[in-house]
Amino acid sequence: MKYVGAHVSASGGVENAPLNAQTIGAKAFALFTKNQRQWHAKPLTETSIAAFRENLDKADIKSEHVLPHDSYLINLGHPEPEGLEKSRAAFLEEMQRCELLGLSLLNFHPGATLRKISEEQGLRLVADSINRVLERTRGVTAVIENTAGQGSTLGYRFEHLAAIIEGVEDKSRVGVCLDTCHTFVAGYDLRTEQACQETFAEFDRVVGFSYLCGMHLNDSKPDLGARVDRHHSLGRGKLGWEVFHYIMRDGRFDDIPLVLETIDETLWAAEIAALYAS
Ligand SMILES: [Zn+2]
Ligand SMILES: [Zn+2]
Repeated sequence: MKYVGAHVSASGGVENAPLNAQTIGAKAFALFTKNQRQWHAKPLTETSIAAFRENLDKADIKSEHVLPHDSYLINLGHPEPEGLEKSRAAFLEEMQRCELLGLSLLNFHPGATLRKISEEQGLRLVADSINRVLERTRGVTAVIENTAGQGSTLGYRFEHLAAIIEGVEDKSRVGVCLDTCHTFVAGYDLRTEQACQETFAEFDRVVGFSYLCGMHLNDSKPDLGARVDRHHSLGRGKLGWEVFHYIMRDGRFDDIPLVLETIDETLWAAEIAALYAS
């Protein structure tokens, strides 16, 4: 069974997100549990937490099909002690918010070296950051997203994801989320059935499908290998529909959140319907 949705708005309170998902026919969704451009947030209230759970029930969406995304400010591979500490504290807070909401996944971008340390050192810092946070939380899996490889960001090679997982002590609470746009602009072709077969076989060999906890379904404005992160609506970018049909027909993508982060939210309901019609 496939669980498709989109990264919906939580404005006015996290409890609004499940209802926003229901409106577009989603069976899964992503959200920010706090403002993604600020370091600090007010704690979640009991009322908001209870309403969130109640609305999940109303929307008939299971907590394991919710894939929250952390703040863009967090860099778990920060080369400087002050930035690293601040990021680790903020990430812990994000994990704790997921715990309070009864959610089992937290999606994040691994980090960036800022060209001050090597990629190997950066990946080691990310794994250490995850270890520290997992030690202090229960029941939430840290879900590493592959990146476009823009600037000095880590995570654009499957080998980076594997290296982080390798450094995490509790392998039962670490996973990955593949973004189709990021995968493609990082240099892995997904434009044809053959290309999808090869790219996902390489992912399986290097990381393993057992770690796959979610997908971001996005078409891409830039071309293969451009290492620039610009999403597009499904079928309107350089990827085209083939990869999305492929994912919808392949059992390895069953039972995990498949989340649109496409640029025109007025198309989300139609995109979800088109995916289910695959
Ligand atoms: Zn993404
Ligand atoms: Zn992106």
